[in-house]
Order: sequence, then C-alpha cells, then structure tokens
Amino acid sequence: MSLSRREFVGRATLGALGTAALASATTEAAEPPTAPTGPVPLIVSTWNFGKASNDAALKVLQGGGSLLDAVEKGIWVTESDLGNHSVGLAGTPNAAGVVQLDACIMYGPGHRAGSVAALEGIRHPISAARRVMEKTRHVMLVGEGARMFALEEGLESIPVNSRELNEAWLKKHPAPPPAAAPVSPDNHDTIALLILGADGTIAGGCSTSGMGNKLPGRVGDSPILGSGLYVDNEVGAAGATGVGENVMRYCASFMIVEFMRQGLHPQEACRRAIQRIVKMDPKPVGQLSINFVALDKQGRFGAAGTDRGFNYSVTTPEKSQVLPNPGLG
Ligand code: ASP
Repeated sequence: MSLSRREFVGRATLGALGTAALASATTEAAEPPTAPTGPVPLIVSTWNFGKASNDAALKVLQGGGSLLDAVEKGIWVTESDLGNHSVGLAGTPNAAGVVQLDACIMYGPGHRAGSVAALEGIRHPISAARRVMEKTRHVMLVGEGARMFALEEGLESIPVNSRELNEAWLKKHPAPPPAAAPVSPDNHDTIALLILGADGTIAGGCSTSGMGNKLPGRVGDSPILGSGLYVDNEVGAAGATGVGENVMRYCASFMIVEFMRQGLHPQEACRRAIQRIVKMDPKPVGQLSINFVALDKQGRFGAAGTDRGFNYSVTTPEKSQVLPNPGLG
C-alpha cells in the first residue's frame, strides 16, 4: 500500500513523537473516575433565574427522565420566561432590532455536542442544539440554516421577517450600526446549566439571546464549546456568563475543566481561570464581566465572577438555593 505524502508525514511525525506523547498522555490521564461523594443529582446554573430551571431539571430526573431531557427541559423554563430579557425570544434584540439566539448542549458519554448560533424565531434554541447533536453529523449550525433545520425538526417557531425589522431599524438609525455596540451589564446574561447525574454522568447546556444591541450576526461565547460551556465526563463541567468576547478568546470553560483535571476544586478552578484572563487581558478587571460556574465528578461545585452582582443556583434532592458570587478569593 502506498502512502500519500500527507499520510506519510503524519505517521512519521506520530512515530517520532510517539513515546513522548504517550508518556505525557499517561501523566495527563484523569485518575480513575471517582464516584460522586456529594448529594446527586447535582445541578448548578448561572444566576438566580437558573433556580427555576434547576428545579425543573431535578423533577425530570426524579420522574425517570434522562440527563439530556433534564438539561433541555430545565433550560426551557428560562427560555420561556417572558420576564427574562437575556434568554429566549423575549431577549434583547440586536442592533437591527432582531432577537438572535445562541445555545449549545454537551453530553459526557461519547463527548457529544450540538450547537446553534444567530438563530431567529425558534422558541427553544436548546432543543435545536440537542437535535443538531442527535440528528446530524455536525456540531454547529448557524443563522438561516439553523432555523431551517429547527423548522424541519418541527420545533416551535414564530414568523420572523428580519428584513422588515431591519429596514424599520435602518429608518430610525440612518447611520450604520456602531462598530462596537455599547455593552451594558444590564443587557446580557446566559443560562448555563450543568448536571452531575446519580451515576456520575455529566451533561450541560447553555442558552442566551446574547449581548443586547450586538451587531447582527455577532456570536458570543455561549454556543462555542469550550468557551461558554464544556463537559468532560472524566472530570467535570463548566459554564460561563458575561461578556462573551472576554470568555471566548480564552476558551475559559475548557480552561476551568482542565484546572479541575489537575486537581483543583471547582471554585478554585473558576478563580484560577479568571486570574489567568486578568493577567493577559488589557482591560481593567471591572470591565471584563466574566463569571463562571463549575462542578466536578466528585460532586463538588463552585463559581467565581468579576461581576459583583453575579450569583448562581445549586440544586440537589436535599435543597435548592441561590448562592452569592464567592468573589475572586
Ligand atoms: N455570554 C453572553 C454573550 O456574550 C452574554 C451573557 O452571558 O451575559 O452572548
């Protein structure tokens, strides 16, 4: 069998690196999965509005539903809340007056994931993300393609006529949209919801309408795996809320999970990620707006954020509570 140049180079390089790579893989390999020691299922989500989602997720699990059903139906609660202007169709519109939604879902076993971005007019973007994971060979769909897919899947929708909304907006604002839409702490939030199941399986999801007044087509961290959400079934999971641009440049959720892999408690892992970002980012800490939640395979959880008002929700069969931002330590 003759090898193409690409194959040959690939195999030769692998051969040369083989021993070193194997050695480092062995040292990096997670310790044998530990059974959860805390109460399970454990559900952790961003913000106080996450509590209603956590409670719904717990109910799904207690009724015999799967972890993915719990993530999806839990997040439905926040996506359906008309009083919530940062998640779902009641979210704050972009600079063209259109609500564009981002969501993703991740399932530990098999390291599976699905994601949608800049999705218009679909009531439950988390369901679209789950369908991408379960029914396509892709991980992420965006914009009109994502909407068409969601419609084909029969997901609940509202008619959207972006052009009409866009033209109405342009009439009111003859100048082109500002290159950098103003960011206010009040015009964005995300539900990131993580679950450690009773058998040690981990899953998570995340949904948002993103930054209010964002440029049309802007995608934040939330649907980007490793940024707004990351799940590793051997280690734990992390999720983010805040200014997506300051999260996605650092793959922050992935970083947190890797810190946990090295043995850090979830809370310390969140703090360490913030410290790392603060060190590298030219912005003052107060302007970063980066907030994280995390849980690990053992059933420990934690959070940390640069926003003083950040809080998070933690639910087990024993209790469901909203906890304050523990700060940066
Ligand atoms: N991270 C979201 C985004 O940038 C917004 C937020 O969670 O506050 O789209």
